[in-house]
Amino acid sequence: MQVIHSPDDIFSITLNQKINHRKIGLVPTMGALHQGHLSLVERAAAENDIVVVSIFVNPLQFNNPSDLQNYPRNLAMDTGLLSSFGVHFIYAPGEEAMYPFRPVIKFDYGPLASVMEGKFRPDHFEGVGLVVTKLFHQCNPDRAYFGLKDLQQYLLVRRLVMDLSFAVEVVGMPTIRETSGLAMSSRNQRLSQNGSRIAANLYRGLRMMEDLWKQGKGPDETKSTGIEFYEEIPGLSIEYLEIVDPETLSNVLGNQFQAVALCVAGYVEGIRLIDNLYLRQD
Ligand code: AMP
Repeated sequence: MQVIHSPDDIFSITLNQKINHRKIGLVPTMGALHQGHLSLVERAAAENDIVVVSIFVNPLQFNNPSDLQNYPRNLAMDTGLLSSFGVHFIYAPGEEAMYPFRPVIKFDYGPLASVMEGKFRPDHFEGVGLVVTKLFHQCNPDRAYFGLKDLQQYLLVRRLVMDLSFAVEVVGMPTIRETSGLAMSSRNQRLSQNGSRIAANLYRGLRMMEDLWKQGKGPDETKSTGIEFYEEIPGLSIEYLEIVDPETLSNVLGNQFQAVALCVAGYVEGIRLIDNLYLRQD
C-alpha cells in the first residue's frame, strides 16, 4: 500500500493500471475511518483489481467553519487501519494541490439539492460535486463506492455521473451502525459517552416511525409522532425530519408508495448528525 499526495502521481499511476485493463475501485472519504468506510473498502476490494481510498477533508463542502476546524484528522491511524484491507493506494492530496485556484464553476442540481442537506447546508453539494469530479478525473475509477447514510449525496453523485458522462459505476452501500443503532460517523468521535447515548435515539425514532408506517399511518401522522418522540429527548435538537421518495427526495403524500426514505438531521453536543431508513412495502 502506497500513500500518494500528488494529483499528477495518482493520475499517472491509475491511468497506467487502466491501460493494463485493471479495474479501479475508488472509495472517497474524509478520513477518521470507521467500520462504515471499511465496508465500502471491502466491497471495492472484492470487485476491483486496484483499490484507491482517497482521504481529503474538503473545505468547500463545509458551510460551518468550526465544523471544518474540528473535523477529526489522523492520516497515520487511517493508514494503519487500511493496511490489512487490500488497499493499493491511499490518495491524500493537500488543499493546495486540490485547489490551486478557487473554483468558479457552480453545480446546480435543481430540486434534488434544494431540500434536506441542501436546504440546511448552503453550498455543501457544490463542494461535493467539485471534489467528486476532481477525484474521478484524478483517480480514473471504474467504480466508486458511496454510503447510503448520505442518501442525498449518493443520488447527486449518480446524477453528476449521468450528466457529465463519467464512465464510473456508482455503488451505494448500506449504513453500518453501532450496536446501539447509532449510524457510524467520523463526527461520532467528538461525542461524549452520554452524547452517543443521546444520539442513538435518532435511529430509535426512525424505527418507531417505521412501525407506524407499516401499520398504514400516513406521512403527516408518522412525521408528527416522530417529531414528538425527538422533542422529548433532552440534549437532542432536530433540524429536519422528512419522509421522501428515495429517488427524487420529494415529500410523499400518502402511504401507498412502494418505497420511502425517512431522513433525519439533528444536533447532539453541538455536533451535526444525519441518518435515514429506507422502507419498502412488502
Ligand atoms: P465521509 O468520510 O464521512 O465523507 O464518508 C465517506 C463515505 O463513507 C461516504 O460515501 C459515506 O456515505 C460513507 N459512510 C460514512 N459513514 C458510513 C456508515 N456508517 N455506513 C456506510 N457508509 C458510510
